Amino acid sequence: MRTWKWMFTAALLVSVSAAAQQPAESQTSGPAANGPMPTDSQPLSVGTVPPLPADSAQAPAASASQPAASQTATAPAPTPSAMPQPTTMDQVVDRFIEREHGLMKALSNRTPVVETYLQNLSADPQLGPVPSEDHYFLGRMDMGVSVDRKDYLKEQDKGGMGGMETRLLGGFHKLYKVQYQPTGFSWMVYADRADFDRSHYEFHYIRREFLGDVRCLVFDVTPKKGSGRGRFLGRVWVEDQDYNIVRLNGTYVPSPRNSYFFHMDSWRLNLIPGYWVPAYIYSEEGDFSAGVKNKLAFKAQTRIWGYDLKKGDKDDELTQIRVDSVKDETATTQDASPLQAERQWQQQAEDNVIERLTRAGLLAPEGDVDHILQTVVNNLEVTNNIDLPRPVRTRVLLTAPLETFSVGNTIVISRGLIDVLPDEASLAAVLSHELAHIVLGHNLGSKYAFNDRMLFSDDSTYANLGFKHIPEEETAADKKAVDLLNNSPYAQKLDNVGLFLKALQTRAPQLNALLTTHLGNPLAENGTVNRLTALATKGPALDNNKLDQVAALPLGGRVKINPWDDKAEMVKTAPVAITSARDKMPFEVTPFYPRLARYGASTTPSATPATAAANSTPGTN
Ligand SMILES: [Zn+2]
Repeated sequence: MRTWKWMFTAALLVSVSAAAQQPAESQTSGPAANGPMPTDSQPLSVGTVPPLPADSAQAPAASASQPAASQTATAPAPTPSAMPQPTTMDQVVDRFIEREHGLMKALSNRTPVVETYLQNLSADPQLGPVPSEDHYFLGRMDMGVSVDRKDYLKEQDKGGMGGMETRLLGGFHKLYKVQYQPTGFSWMVYADRADFDRSHYEFHYIRREFLGDVRCLVFDVTPKKGSGRGRFLGRVWVEDQDYNIVRLNGTYVPSPRNSYFFHMDSWRLNLIPGYWVPAYIYSEEGDFSAGVKNKLAFKAQTRIWGYDLKKGDKDDELTQIRVDSVKDETATTQDASPLQAERQWQQQAEDNVIERLTRAGLLAPEGDVDHILQTVVNNLEVTNNIDLPRPVRTRVLLTAPLETFSVGNTIVISRGLIDVLPDEASLAAVLSHELAHIVLGHNLGSKYAFNDRMLFSDDSTYANLGFKHIPEEETAADKKAVDLLNNSPYAQKLDNVGLFLKALQTRAPQLNALLTTHLGNPLAENGTVNRLTALATKGPALDNNKLDQVAALPLGGRVKINPWDDKAEMVKTAPVAITSARDKMPFEVTPFYPRLARYGASTTPSATPATAAANSTPGTN
């Protein structure tokens, strides 16, 4: 299992340019080579068509295409593709309205995890808009009729919440101060949950456009006069095979008194056959041009995952039977010695916690990212002659706040932290702190070997689990971590770690929510970095003008989560040259631009997007 040499994973972490070429090559054919498309010049305004009665929008053909709402945690059945292809843009509109209602129905029994991370902005003369404070929301969203949510965070962490009002607003509420409504950020999973039809909206075909590998038809959507409050105003992108909406961009009108709807850009991914499920929503408000009074400005990323999670009702958990019984393959025929028993007990606690966190949608299943993490841990172990009775495992926490912790021999590191680390040495530094806890025997969580302690609802996970060490153990782990690093292949690169810690310190006072941990010890408290402080003086001074000095990265650049099965993988992006200090954006949120691809296309290159033969596109005459 363990190889007795160390290796850099730099090829994966630092330079991913080679891998980034692959998806680009798969798009060998441009729009012109992909079969007939509607021409932009044809009269395709569909707003003139008489509105259909609401019921006829869901004609028998529509209901026949619906999958049986599955109660189990499996993908909905694929849609039969036997439906005739639309021949006019009017028919395309009918089709995507019907597909939208089909999606709502298919997802109506789902309760995915929804996370929103928001940074308020203020203007910096050199760096442009920079975070001035931040907010974090995490919960489960009920995709049923009301699109409601349950929060994982305690009441004081999430700001004011209203029941009905929250649902209606889908924005933020301005009374005495601005209060962000977490539901608002996930509002645009659908354009209009209740009334997405021709009697409430007009649809105007704009043009065709590729989003990634997927050819789309673009429509502007405007609410009809007098169609009511909080209606979608914006644009939708519709893929041209099954006519599902794959992207929505816009806002809601008219604004209620004393509140706003904010603007959103909402992306869907084709993760199951026939359906595109909401995955990313970017929101942004604010204007930093001269003369504008800066009242409010923010950027926010909302991510949705865990579609395939069980609902997590208490009954469900109590009746769940574990079928994957593992045969005890220990060589010995004797009873466990006291030390062996202690280790088995810790293993049991570790397994319980990892399984429970995975089931709550907070931990990615074991996967590709773990191979990279384990390689780094292995490098530290081998060069320090560490030989533990059980191998160290790693797992990815799916959330954004910068966080590591360990339970038993498993090191957990958050997606957000992997994202912002500039290089492998910095990754090694944060992992070395947890490895030090394990080497020093700072075992936490053995109480979780009692299975009754795993019986809680998913949204109370943070109240029931915790892995914070006492300050003395933190100090000891930091000291040991520096020893481990000094003996490791990363010893020559600790300047980079120092730079990262300096960048973190620069932003820490403004990023309290990003630095608030929910399971482990924080990297910084009250605006001061307290992790690995011995390394914080290493390296050169932080200098924004040095464009080759990248001390920390924006969020979202490294780890990609599959919203259906929660698998984590490294993002493949080509390196982009930094041309000014404003390009660095350490710890910041940015818009989403996922490369869209059809289901199965990324794993089987032969299954390319629509070919001319297989694809009849509407309105070409
Ligand atoms: Zn620690």
